[in-house]
Amino acid sequence: MTRVENGLVLRQVRYKDADRLIELLTAEHGRITVKVRGALRKGSRMTVCTDPPVYAAFTLYESGNGHITADEAEPLELFFGLREDLSRLSLAFYLTEVATELSEEGLSADELLRLTLNSLYALSTLKKTCALVKTAFELRAAAISGWEPTVDACVECGQEPKRPMFGVRDGAVRCADCRTGADGLHLPLSATALDAMRYIVYGDPKKIFSFRLPPDDLKCLSDATEAYLLTQTEHHFRTLDYYKSIL
Ligand SMILES: [Zn+2]
Repeated sequence: MTRVENGLVLRQVRYKDADRLIELLTAEHGRITVKVRGALRKGSRMTVCTDPPVYAAFTLYESGNGHITADEAEPLELFFGLREDLSRLSLAFYLTEVATELSEEGLSADELLRLTLNSLYALSTLKKTCALVKTAFELRAAAISGWEPTVDACVECGQEPKRPMFGVRDGAVRCADCRTGADGLHLPLSATALDAMRYIVYGDPKKIFSFRLPPDDLKCLSDATEAYLLTQTEHHFRTLDYYKSIL
């Protein structure tokens, strides 16, 4: 049985002589592994459609034993703007590695797919800065994966936090003075960084990259979102090491 499914190529490996195995992130079926026959054959359009990051409409065939193959694909978004800039491209690989880690086979991933596509588009076409896209993606990805932080008020006193601190273990904001006794690492946030956090967590998903922060505030927000995502996923992202090594 064949079906057409749109998917973001998360990664690929060579398989046999001219084939590739790819991992796709799809809205309906989450992460799926697909064998693409002839992907590396000279002149094949499948080469470009299987080179991450790329979003394409794949014609999939599922055999009786559950293996999925694709012989045809139509590119939907090639993210050309990433391919000419090493730091943008390496950040894109980090985003797709996070999406890989946060998705599961067979479980719908509509929100995660949209977030990842919007983030890649913001990097590639809108030319938002790497630091801004990274921090917004990390926080929103955590929020939609079951780790929505509590950033509306201090979780201890219920007030607007004074000298806010962000707990990377429980995702809660506390006043510096209320923090006593709370578990785990807490990182300082400026008031504007906290506002940006609220905007990212509670805002319209399409607009989460439309904020501006002075460099120091962006840095403290970014430290907090990265530490939060890494703590929640308990995963080491090699693509993040690489991205940082070339900054
Ligand atoms: Zn407080």
